[in-house]
Amino acid sequence: MPTRRALIIGGSLGGLLAAHLLRSVGWEVTVFERNPDNLTGRGAGLSTHPQLLEILRRVGIDFDESMGIRVETVLFLDRNGRVYLEEKTQRVMSSWGRLYRSLCDPLPPESYRLGASLVRIEQDAGRVTAAFADGARVSGDLLVGADGLRSTVREQFLPDVQPHYAGYVAWRAMLEESEIPAAIHAQIFERYTFCLPEGEHLLAYPVPGLHNETHAGRRAYNIVWYRPADPDQTLVDLCTDASGRCHGTSIPPPLIRPEVTAAIKTAACGLVAPQVAEIFARTRPFFQPIFDLESPHLVFGRVALLGDAAFVARPHVGAGVTKAALDAAALADAAGANDLATGLRRYERAQLPFGKGLVALGRQEGAYLTAQLKPPEQRTAAELKRDVHDVLVAHNSRSESLRSVLVAARAAAG
Ligand SMILES: Cc1cc2nc3c(=O)[nH]c(=O)nc-3n(C[C@H](O)[C@H](O)[C@H](O)COP(=O)(O)OP(=O)(O)OC[C@H]3O[C@@H](n4cnc5c(N)ncnc54)[C@H](O)[C@@H]3O)c2cc1C
Repeated sequence: MPTRRALIIGGSLGGLLAAHLLRSVGWEVTVFERNPDNLTGRGAGLSTHPQLLEILRRVGIDFDESMGIRVETVLFLDRNGRVYLEEKTQRVMSSWGRLYRSLCDPLPPESYRLGASLVRIEQDAGRVTAAFADGARVSGDLLVGADGLRSTVREQFLPDVQPHYAGYVAWRAMLEESEIPAAIHAQIFERYTFCLPEGEHLLAYPVPGLHNETHAGRRAYNIVWYRPADPDQTLVDLCTDASGRCHGTSIPPPLIRPEVTAAIKTAACGLVAPQVAEIFARTRPFFQPIFDLESPHLVFGRVALLGDAAFVARPHVGAGVTKAALDAAALADAAGANDLATGLRRYERAQLPFGKGLVALGRQEGAYLTAQLKPPEQRTAAELKRDVHDVLVAHNSRSESLRSVLVAARAAAG
């Protein structure tokens, strides 16, 4: 069979995983990323799951000690900084930047193009062509839409499918280990830490450092703080820049107004454990609104969606990248077949129920936060008062929950 060519739109983790996996079954690939600069600077922590590590091994990346930080204790801190629950846990925390480097570096440079923004797709029975903002046109046998939540690829085929705002945002912050005061470091740095102010949810954990270091002294600390934000007022205010322009339902981090940043740091001092508030005060936090997104189809002729372009599950399961990896692996298995159309139908049959199941799981885990926008008399008992043991069980059973969704989806696909 002559070498087949895949055009991958989106050079983040989903696109890179697809590139490696398609190459491993004999495809020639080119990744097109609209950002002009490489994406190394996207600092954020990432939970991992065994399924992700397995797929990384399949493409020759051994997830060793240099890629993640093992965390074996989980702590719950009250507003005064006292530990009210401490348990064993088993988590491996990595970072977006660490995975990006290990996937991007081994690719031949000519197969990863920056500054290439897809605007339109054309296809006929034999080819698919991507048209880019600079006028360039590139043709191939398959086009993979790995272009995230606001996917241009999805927009062309499913214009009515839009992200649905879940009613809360995640404030995110990272600080280098060396900048954390010694006494606070000794108490919490190597533990997975929860603070649960009423109606809110904060988690914090160690991750690889700025240059992906995992050794003591050079790591970083990652904070994710979920806070309800009603769409008509609070979110509009958060997404309005200093010139008074509202950017819709999200805003580029550099445009977050200084008074918004100051207010969230003040809120941290009043609501979360002082150890965490102290670290948070030293960071440059940014926020991401939380969305649900479900696509009713994943395949359109020679075009296939994967990762966040296809489904976005709320991040509580910490499985967005693992899902992108599982999608990419299923797509490579499908594209390895001689008959591409049959393979792609199999891909859609398998990954649709998986994506739907993961979105449902994320919705279930985030239900308490979404409910905070309802008047108290309309909330259930579980929505009014959070049971800390439920939080602990959900935390410790994440990989198991993910596995159950996968097994159910495989059964549904037949
Ligand atoms: C608060 C929060 C915490 C999270 N924590 C975790 C976690 O712990 N573990 C985990 O696994 N996941 C986590 N996630 C989810 C994870 O970040 C996403 O699921 C993952 O990044 C999806 O990858 P992707 O490649 O599909 O999409 P994206 O990472 O969104 O990448 C899409 C890429 O496509 C590019 N692009 C867009 N349009 C075009 C175009 N027209 N032309 C060319 N390029 C284009 C973009 O520039 C971008 O680089 C979290 C998410 C949030 C919001």
